[in-house]
Amino acid sequence: MHTYIISDLHLTPERPNITKAFFDFLRDQAPLAEQLYIIGDLFEFWIGDDAAEQLGAAPVLDAMKAISQVTDCFFMPGNRDFLVRQSFTERTGFKILDDESIIDFYGVKTLLLHGDSLCTDDLAHQQFRQTMMTNRAFCDGFLSLDVPSRIEQAKQARLQSAQHKSEVSMGIMDVTEHAVLEAFAKHGVSQMIHGHTHRQNTHHYKVEGETVIRYVLGDWGETNSVMRVDKAGIEITNQAI
Ligand code: MN
Repeated sequence: MHTYIISDLHLTPERPNITKAFFDFLRDQAPLAEQLYIIGDLFEFWIGDDAAEQLGAAPVLDAMKAISQVTDCFFMPGNRDFLVRQSFTERTGFKILDDESIIDFYGVKTLLLHGDSLCTDDLAHQQFRQTMMTNRAFCDGFLSLDVPSRIEQAKQARLQSAQHKSEVSMGIMDVTEHAVLEAFAKHGVSQMIHGHTHRQNTHHYKVEGETVIRYVLGDWGETNSVMRVDKAGIEITNQAI
């Protein structure tokens, strides 16, 4: 028995090879797992469940629906697909998880999160989280716009995001140790798993004399990044795309 965790595929019709790699994963690997977690930024952007067909996401949603019939599937929104709603669950069969969920993986209490909440040096992003991502009134207002208006605003946001990334240092866009240690302390867990930074790695920390571990998934591009969790532990593999 094992579980797969993936994140940061950033699916878009502009990168059909990544979508194909996702379909291959869902066909060949995911059915063998008892659970599948996608922990954010599955999509390059998501402007509402009702716009999915128009943006060409229907085949992805169909494939998700199919795997959810055989494997228990969960979706945690990231900072690019935070606008998924209950209708997404009905369409895909994936249950939606809150950011910062505690999951018991084979007896180990684990903090699962997308990861952007840990990037506390990135003040512009934290402001975006506060005023837009986690602001119900903002989200409801945006979702009430017609689809062409939402597409236009999303384009602007993507341009701003690209500009922001080119302006701030790589260090600022990584997690801060302070935020990581605070999250370990707050949730009282010995391991956490996240994506977002695209810096696949395994980090060890000492908290009150105990070793705790932070696992970071990579994004999908030249290779995929697939975490396999079972009783024996956690490993991340990368296959060429
Ligand atoms: Mn992200």
